[in-house]
Amino acid sequence: MTSAFAQSNPVRPTSPHTRNRPTKGHARSERAETRRPSGFDRFDLDPRLARALAEAGYDEPRPIQVETIPACLDGRDVMGLAQTGTGKTAAFALPILQGLLEEPGDGPLVLVLAPTRELARQIENEIRTLARYTEIETVCVFGGVSAASQTKALRRRPEIVVGCPGRVLDLLQQRELDLSWVDTLVLDEADHMFDMGFFRDVRKILAALPKDRQNLLFSATMPKEVRSLADQILNDPHVVELAHTKPSERIDHFLYTVDEGRKRALLDHVLAQEDCRTAIVFTRTKHRAKRLAQQLEKQGRSAVALQGNMSQSQRDRAMEGFRAGRFEILVATDIAARGLDVAGIDYVVNYDVPNTPETYTHRIGRTGRSEATGRACTFVTGEDRAWLRDTERILGAPIPSETLPEGLPTAAAGLGGREPRTGGGRRSGGARGASSRDGSRGGASGGAASTRNRSRRGGRRSGRGSASGRASAGR
Ligand code: AMP
Repeated sequence: MTSAFAQSNPVRPTSPHTRNRPTKGHARSERAETRRPSGFDRFDLDPRLARALAEAGYDEPRPIQVETIPACLDGRDVMGLAQTGTGKTAAFALPILQGLLEEPGDGPLVLVLAPTRELARQIENEIRTLARYTEIETVCVFGGVSAASQTKALRRRPEIVVGCPGRVLDLLQQRELDLSWVDTLVLDEADHMFDMGFFRDVRKILAALPKDRQNLLFSATMPKEVRSLADQILNDPHVVELAHTKPSERIDHFLYTVDEGRKRALLDHVLAQEDCRTAIVFTRTKHRAKRLAQQLEKQGRSAVALQGNMSQSQRDRAMEGFRAGRFEILVATDIAARGLDVAGIDYVVNYDVPNTPETYTHRIGRTGRSEATGRACTFVTGEDRAWLRDTERILGAPIPSETLPEGLPTAAAGLGGREPRTGGGRRSGGARGASSRDGSRGGASGGAASTRNRSRRGGRRSGRGSASGRASAGR
């Protein structure tokens, strides 16, 4: 497991609007110093959160949690560079919940923006798990479904709103969502948010938020657009970086060089491996995902597609079925590549290579989650050479190559892909061919953080009713 490093990274001076958080941060660190830190005890969290953590089986904080939680608790802005599967949701959810327990108020006080509905739902579920012994409410809003139940839920003034930018903006413009009390903003998967063209919506949402707030920004990569947004919104952030763009050490990843016409047979070979009980197969297009899932079903496999042409309820059914083990194979487009957390996926198969090296890391990160190990294989055609070169350069190591199985037939019916080409076989060239399945391993380094006190909810609570008054309001 790689270790995290953190550094203080002054981006711009402390905002003149910053209020002082009187003693909370100091009291916390004094109390913590008198104890030997162990497990989650080191964060001195509310017993209701500690109970939920214990029940969820979270014994030891993950590196991103060790590095992020103290700074968040101190009210600092945080920039977390971490890929999914590292435990980053709890890294921001725990301090947020702690803050809401210490300083309650009518919501929404916390806004979490995520690029996809699946990720938003997953965040909502994680927050609900951790908040199960509190009265804190979380509502999730996203497009593709009727807004009626979401607006109804928002009228209960939940403390936390998790949502995708499009729907959040719609609800804001319809005055169904009041963001004027938000004092903590989380931007999750900011790079993906940019890739999906959400930045314009995000900027409009930012303009509707109070200026004086805590900002927590998470991104697996730091393209210049995300860097520029971070520079604009983060105030003296605490920066936590985990090995980004590098696959997890627990993932054994390798590639096959194969022509388009034999991909289908190669997939059968991979899915027939003894250690492949569950798999996500990624295709480039929605159409291919649909066709491939249908073909696998016809072969008697329990497969389901997850692609953007499906309705929200179809997508939910596919995800839930896969999560519950009713389907062994999920054939997905990149919509499923980020953030999704399904335990125990044995294989990720890149039937088609992803668009970017970053997406490669995200896709293969669907296996090897948490403490589990996983395997990821990529089908590379002659046309993917430039992609391979770029990806290996960014990963800093070649992706080990596997020899094609003997006698692989060319599929009679293709999947609408490019024309079959001749070729395949073991990739030539040095360490790559020889080091089959050695895997390339990412690294990371460590460091320390400084603290800054900052007020969160106290000022806003005045005139908004006490915690007890709030607890009885419409709950
Ligand atoms: P995330 O990166 O937030 O998607 O988290 C990946 C997975 O790790 C999720 O299933 C979490 O429930 C789980 N997780 C997060 N923190 C811990 C922890 N400290 N101990 C055990 N599991 C954790």
